[in-house]
Amino acid sequence: MKSHTNKENKYDYDLVVIGGGPAGMTAAIYAQRANLKTVIIEKYAAGGKIIKTSEIENYPGYDYILGRELSEKMKKQVEKLQVGFISDEVTKIRDSKDHKVKKVILASDEFYTAKGVIIATGTLERKIGAVGEEEYANRGVSYCAVCDGALFKNKIITVVGGGYAACEEALYLTRFTNKVNLIHRRDQFRADDKTVNKVKNNKNINLITDHVVLQVLGTADKKKIGKLEIQNVKTKKNTEIATDALFPYIGSDPVTKFVKDLDICDSNGYIIVNDKCQTKIPGLYAAGDVIAKNLRQIVTAVNDGAIAAQYLINFIDNLNE
Ligand code: NAP
Repeated sequence: MKSHTNKENKYDYDLVVIGGGPAGMTAAIYAQRANLKTVIIEKYAAGGKIIKTSEIENYPGYDYILGRELSEKMKKQVEKLQVGFISDEVTKIRDSKDHKVKKVILASDEFYTAKGVIIATGTLERKIGAVGEEEYANRGVSYCAVCDGALFKNKIITVVGGGYAACEEALYLTRFTNKVNLIHRRDQFRADDKTVNKVKNNKNINLITDHVVLQVLGTADKKKIGKLEIQNVKTKKNTEIATDALFPYIGSDPVTKFVKDLDICDSNGYIIVNDKCQTKIPGLYAAGDVIAKNLRQIVTAVNDGAIAAQYLINFIDNLNE
């Protein structure tokens, strides 16, 4: 990677987009099409959370599409426009006093300068916090059904959670086995009725409501997960259930540690933006799951990405005047 340490006042890019999920890719498409020299910086793979999403049925234009397929289509569109792509982690953003130069600093201490920045880093899966959860990660505990579901063909699979992700991934996992447990800490679900009814009517899903997972227990040789200790939250009675896999889907937290010092987040760590997807710092915008909002969907992420890019294009146009 080239070093930029002597280029303090020069722009490497018009726009740096941090995060390569649907929001970031959409922002890059709009910006590059408006002739802004744009780069996406992404720590993991392009696609964000949708590459970990099995099936999508609520994205207009596709009544059914695999998450990785939709992400691949978006990525191809970005590549066709020749948007730059850097695989790295952003650790800090610095703004000049006049807000005309943003410095995006990477883990390596190298940096890129830009006229504007869009943060689209999304969220990261939450851990249950059960004893043994970390110990058995990659030995039966996984946070990605699409990636690892097929490893547990005809085995017992347990999903935890009561939102869309838990319901949808439990349904997806019935492709591999007829023994899927779905543990939820209440008896009311957050997903819509259609999804919840699909779960309830699926004879391969064993619903265990009003329970939480206390402990992940291994097989006798402790090489992989074998059982879970669970607790009934009403009776406080503990029981053990056999399982070969555990997929926690209990929500996620925003990836915003790198902007903590900018004071642009709410108390839960989500970035506060106005209806233009603009933070309180001129030239710094945010889009997608990482912003404080009520509805986190692919369609709302791409909506935010377009809005952020469009208003940032206006901001940059004004800088040049
Ligand atoms: P979510 O909607 O926040 O649901 C998390 C679930 O996990 C809740 O049911 C919660 O229980 C449970 N939970 C939280 N902490 C727990 C703990 N420590 N132990 C046990 N259970 C715990 O998360 P999500 O399903 O990952 O969805 C995240 C966002 O993406 C949401 O905005 C969702 O709408 C969206 N999404 C949408 C789709 C779709 O539309 N097709 C698909 C996936 C995700 P309580 O209910 O008791 O709080």
